[in-house]
Amino acid sequence: MKGRIHSMDTFGTVDGPGIRFVLFMQGCALRCQFCHNPDTWSMAGGSEVTVEEVLAEIEPYVAYYQRSGGGITVTGGEPTLQAPFVARLFRECKRRWGLHTALDSSGFCDPGRAAELLDATDLVLLDLKQMDAGRHKRLTGQRHERIHRFARHLTKIGKPIWIRHVLIPGVTDEPKDLRLLGQFVSELGSVEKLELLPYHRMGVFKWQALGLDYPLEGVPEPEPEEVERARAHIEEGRHLAGNLNAAEVWATGTFGK
Ligand code: SF4
Repeated sequence: MKGRIHSMDTFGTVDGPGIRFVLFMQGCALRCQFCHNPDTWSMAGGSEVTVEEVLAEIEPYVAYYQRSGGGITVTGGEPTLQAPFVARLFRECKRRWGLHTALDSSGFCDPGRAAELLDATDLVLLDLKQMDAGRHKRLTGQRHERIHRFARHLTKIGKPIWIRHVLIPGVTDEPKDLRLLGQFVSELGSVEKLELLPYHRMGVFKWQALGLDYPLEGVPEPEPEEVERARAHIEEGRHLAGNLNAAEVWATGTFGK
């Protein structure tokens, strides 16, 4: 079985617990204005590899992943677009080495098409980008109903979730939207972590290299106090929902998707 990939990183430390092998898949149906990897969007880009070829790349480092409590994370692009390939890869990583498997997804996915993949996934890193419907459509090019359905499905099947939200001044920092995010997260029963990731501009050069206009030109990175304010609004939402099931809110971190 072949998959279309963008790249691999043998030493990832921000996409799940421990040290991880990170595989970036090619293809995405969203067009997020802050996307760090616009070069993963096209299904025609990247290169084709077999599951065996990816496993051969992982094998020399397996002891590091095992000893650090890490594993493999598949991200993108959107990994669920190639669900059968990722499912087989995850199953083999588990069968051969007992590795922990994490899926980093936008959630823009029909759960029925990802059943096998979710079965082989230990943790889902789920990006919730904007709670307001209109602003979500403008920010990502897609509606958020399917993403919310996917999130609720994860909870229904008891799949551990880490929620990630990129904080962009003037774009995703409206107090009302952040409170709604806090409420929504609290209503999901299997959220283990909530990461608040300050927007950064490190991916802008990729937009330029692709000849694309960067839509967030002139938008600054948030100041630490803005991140703290956002965190407080999310906390308000969690208290309103009255169900504080997310173990932690991280005010620091970095996003790569
Ligand atoms: S940020 Fe992620 S979901 Fe959004 S366009 Fe980029 S790869 Fe796709």
